[in-house]
Amino acid sequence: MSRYLLLALLSLFLILPAHAQIAVPDIQVSENDYPGTIQLSVDATDLSRRIYQVHERIPVQPGPLKLWYPQWIPGNHAPTGPINQFAGLRISGNGQRIEWRRDPLDMYAFHLDVPTGVSEIDIEFQSLSPTASDQGRVAMTDALMSVQWSRLLLYPAGYDARRIRFQPQLRLPEGWKFGSALQSAGSEGDTHRFQPLALVDLVDSPVYAGRYFKRFDLDPGAKIPVHLNVVADAPELLQAKPEILAAHRALVTQADRVFGARPFAHYDFLLALSDQFSDIGLEHRQSSENGTFPGYLTGDAPFNDNYLLPHEYSHSWNGKFRRPAMLWTPHYNTPMQNDLLWVYEGQTEFWAWVLAARAGLYTPEQAREVLAVNAASFDHMAGRDWRNLQDTVYQGIVDFNDAPQAWANWQRGYDFYDEGTLVWLDVDTKLRELSGGKRSMDDVARGFFDGGGKDLDTRTYGEEDVFAALQRVQAHDWPGFLHARIDGHGPGAPLDGLARGGWKLVYSETPNVAISDVENDQDIDDFSYSLGLKIAREAGKLDEVSWNSPAYRAGLAKDMQVVAVDGTAYTAERLKRAITAAKADGKPLELLVRQGEKFSTVQIDYRDGLRYPHLERIGGTPDRLMQLLSPKGSR
Ligand SMILES: [Zn+2]
Repeated sequence: MSRYLLLALLSLFLILPAHAQIAVPDIQVSENDYPGTIQLSVDATDLSRRIYQVHERIPVQPGPLKLWYPQWIPGNHAPTGPINQFAGLRISGNGQRIEWRRDPLDMYAFHLDVPTGVSEIDIEFQSLSPTASDQGRVAMTDALMSVQWSRLLLYPAGYDARRIRFQPQLRLPEGWKFGSALQSAGSEGDTHRFQPLALVDLVDSPVYAGRYFKRFDLDPGAKIPVHLNVVADAPELLQAKPEILAAHRALVTQADRVFGARPFAHYDFLLALSDQFSDIGLEHRQSSENGTFPGYLTGDAPFNDNYLLPHEYSHSWNGKFRRPAMLWTPHYNTPMQNDLLWVYEGQTEFWAWVLAARAGLYTPEQAREVLAVNAASFDHMAGRDWRNLQDTVYQGIVDFNDAPQAWANWQRGYDFYDEGTLVWLDVDTKLRELSGGKRSMDDVARGFFDGGGKDLDTRTYGEEDVFAALQRVQAHDWPGFLHARIDGHGPGAPLDGLARGGWKLVYSETPNVAISDVENDQDIDDFSYSLGLKIAREAGKLDEVSWNSPAYRAGLAKDMQVVAVDGTAYTAERLKRAITAAKADGKPLELLVRQGEKFSTVQIDYRDGLRYPHLERIGGTPDRLMQLLSPKGSR
């Protein structure tokens, strides 16, 4: 298989222009199965210290052995395996310690010499889960945890992850319940054994466990079942409102109607509702990891995250069943190449927004307000001038610590997600226009993603396959159409899709509900489309200053503190009143700001008043946007 993959990769390189040559990664692996089954036992009972204890027993042959700790975790799009949280490594054979040494060129590789007479080695180590979010992802709390197996194992180098077998076992805190796509092999007390499986499937099958747990059947009676497994900070958070549960059931139905056959044998949403557990969205073939607001199921949460489960669920088709060839690797210690993330993530984000609206997780107005913010933010994205959408696919590698950015809208971030929505909306409305309303992205998705089997094989694709899928639905110059948008620099966002959808982006003094939702959640006030800044509610600290905005031209920068507005102590309301007053009297705003120990007065020359983005119907045009967002009946 590896040879075929190598050939497939080489053939991809041949179609790249000469200036775009990319080094072929070292992907050579054995075509044989790794001999024997690796026993993996994780003890996750040390809740107060947030420590996972790992014991692993690997069948071996005497001689040199290289072990890897997973580095490139699928869906992370960057080398994020938390090697810094890996500690206490001790290896032994027949009860005797075996020394190991780290590879000087690869911090994720460990070398050892297996002594004669040793046929299996015992490995012990800990995964030290962060006790606070400044150390990394908080994955274990007093009430719930995630068990991501990629953090909890070493594996022998030189083999395909589909050819290394593991038998996992997990000990949980007393009385905790769990959800997972793993198949049970029996439990003794709080120790749970799972059916042996290939490393690739183990890494793709995390466990979410908690003191408070509830499992909802999202498609009662289905041959291919879909369940929602919820762990939460408190038991009352599990009491889902009937209409919220109904929307999740509608999500399952509406996804069937977009993508066709379910590409899994069963599916388990894993959902953590907590304000301590770090937010997460991570796709898997038969499950997904979702971490969001505690009040998500009880109707007491911001709505901005309501695209999360639709996003991760869509990935079972787009990303897991079908995956860009350059993101398919035989194991976790060879680089992935992100070139096609504008399809893998961008189109998934488009479907997440569409499915959230079709399922009722967004109201039509919320879906439009979310799109208005999306359109406005990319229309104001100064960094488009130097960094096109295509280059943002590398953001996770450029900034794999996810450090705060000083100039976020100049540096750009993970824009291939949300700008991807605009691009695929552009494609959708173009298809509707060219076909006289007969065809749309629904037809493209059905042609491209339908037919996944339960065998969990992945079918890879290249850019040319995406263009061919579009071409089969509607003849057009799709390579030219898409590259103009992916590789272009603006000015402004790709808003043709919006106009073709029958709507235009406008600004008014009326707050946008999606912006208000985020403001309240993040405790900020958002003046992005007027002064070009966001201010933290606590202490008036500048959270963001947009490049080349009125605030930027006045000399403001992130982390300065706004002390006073026109000579009076700062409050957001006073700043709003001053912005409105400047519109009438034409005088510049005067802010007293503090940077470290230094105070200064800055004047902002801005007279356009408060501005928030909205969508407005273009009269006399077909409303293709609402056609796209309306639920689909059965075919
Ligand atoms: Zn995603």
